[in-house]
Amino acid sequence: MLSDFDVTIIGLGPVGSFAALLMENRGLKVLAIDRDIDIYSLPRAVSISDQGLRMAQEIDLDQIYIKNSTEVSGAEFVDKDLNRIGGTLDLKGFITSNAWPPMRFFHQPYTDRAIRDRLMQSSVTVLLEHEITEMKQEDDLVSLWVKDNKSRKIKSFTSRYLIGSDGGSSAVRNLLNIKQEDLNYNRDWVVIDIELLKPNQLTDKAIQICDSERLGTFIPAHLPFRRWEFMIHEGEDKEQFNSDEIIHRLINKWLSPSEYKIIRKAIYQFHSVLASKFRIGNCFLMGDAAHQNPPFMGEGLMSGYRDAYNLSWKLACVLKGNCSDELLDSYELERKPHAKFVVENSAGIGELMEAYADAKDPNDVPEELVSKGYGSFVLPDLDEGLFYGGKAIKEMFAGQLFPQIIKKKNNIIHERLDGILGESFAIVSNQKIEINDNQQEFMDQLNFSYIELEEDLINANPWLQRFFEFNRHYLIRPDRYVYGADFKNITIEKLIEDLRSRITF
Ligand SMILES: Cc1cc2nc3c(=O)[nH]c(=O)nc-3n(C[C@H](O)[C@H](O)[C@H](O)COP(=O)(O)OP(=O)(O)OC[C@H]3O[C@@H](n4cnc5c(N)ncnc54)[C@H](O)[C@@H]3O)c2cc1C
Repeated sequence: MLSDFDVTIIGLGPVGSFAALLMENRGLKVLAIDRDIDIYSLPRAVSISDQGLRMAQEIDLDQIYIKNSTEVSGAEFVDKDLNRIGGTLDLKGFITSNAWPPMRFFHQPYTDRAIRDRLMQSSVTVLLEHEITEMKQEDDLVSLWVKDNKSRKIKSFTSRYLIGSDGGSSAVRNLLNIKQEDLNYNRDWVVIDIELLKPNQLTDKAIQICDSERLGTFIPAHLPFRRWEFMIHEGEDKEQFNSDEIIHRLINKWLSPSEYKIIRKAIYQFHSVLASKFRIGNCFLMGDAAHQNPPFMGEGLMSGYRDAYNLSWKLACVLKGNCSDELLDSYELERKPHAKFVVENSAGIGELMEAYADAKDPNDVPEELVSKGYGSFVLPDLDEGLFYGGKAIKEMFAGQLFPQIIKKKNNIIHERLDGILGESFAIVSNQKIEINDNQQEFMDQLNFSYIELEEDLINANPWLQRFFEFNRHYLIRPDRYVYGADFKNITIEKLIEDLRSRITF
């Protein structure tokens, strides 16, 4: 059946906007709707990870983040007197296998503004001040009704697929009747953003303040901004945290009132919740609509970016007729457990702070909790999903991100080369490889890239070197995850045949 749009995106926060631009870049006809007239003008998310920057790179949003952010030098847990008690992470100068620093702090109003401007100049059809009121799924498309909040008129559209990226109180999630699982971290915190009026003398590390009187967080955000977050105790009058006087008292350990201007103080309940389903029929949830976590890991927005990046190439593959709709089931299979880890580990950092604050000696804190802290936790690889055999095989590096190849000049990154992998699947090899005609036809249809790497380039990329110590050929997905490698008796022909059976059905 013909539809007005390939994909409709409800909610143009950072996640919906990223998804809209990724899909436009892949040639899809996108309708994007937000109930507000403009971006949210105050900062919420502050951090973008190496993987976030690598994903943003695909549509040149990396430069927007770089221009409006500062490299994070590290993070640690401190006691009430700000002495280090654990979990130090020293990040200065480190470049990960994604070819970016592990984390940068950005100023969200600046980045969201630039991304919104990009969106308004794109071919995406954007409807602001509109909100979804009703939707119906029939045959292979979604009918939706949206209210124009200015004229009060109802408009209707049809779309092959619909995405709810409409934040924590998602209307799409409610219309789909998707329940949320509560993962049991619900605490009120006051979040304070300030602008420094004097030269910065504060630490350049993010710190978690494990003070039994009041837990806190300090974030050396992008200058001239700084952020503090403090827990509000049960039974405390929340209203008092709206007073500047209380805010001045909370941060007087660091600054006197004449040294800064408060730009925002807000009380948030830090949740940890996960939607029970990320897909129903032709509708999907992503971003905060699908998962919310306390901000201690700095990964909330990154989880949403991973959703958008995972789903956009799959939708494009299906809508161009190269893959069957079943491929889209791998979205929930891959994203839900990963997002769940982020939600649980973020809450775990909050619990670790409480344990450090309550302990007489930090060494008494159980290892199980310490392992959730900085310097210990590692984001998991993908496990089940679109991989050789349906489950990522470790020896093939399947489920891991393939390193981004770089070229350096004077020991500084001069070129990031993800572009050579193209926008589809790629075979990356350290030697020549023969493909039979039948498989070549399948690969041409999918616009495969084939890259034979020279030894010098591999040797100049230590992350890559490690991969090629174990296998000779890698089959890489469009989102740069390894699908499989030639391992034991699994030849490249077998890998390609397995992929064909999984995406064409
Ligand atoms: C205090 C705080 C600190 C945080 N710190 C970090 C951090 O350091 N790092 C990090 O990665 N994350 C952090 N986060 C989380 C991060 O802000 C969110 O994960 C991120 O904003 C989610 O983006 P989103 O696009 O999914 O949702 P949102 O940003 O909430 O956007 C949702 C959009 O949907 C629109 N909308 C809502 N309902 C409708 C409707 N019915 N119809 C149409 N449009 C609708 C809204 O207007 C909005 O534009 C923090 C969050 C908070 C609250």
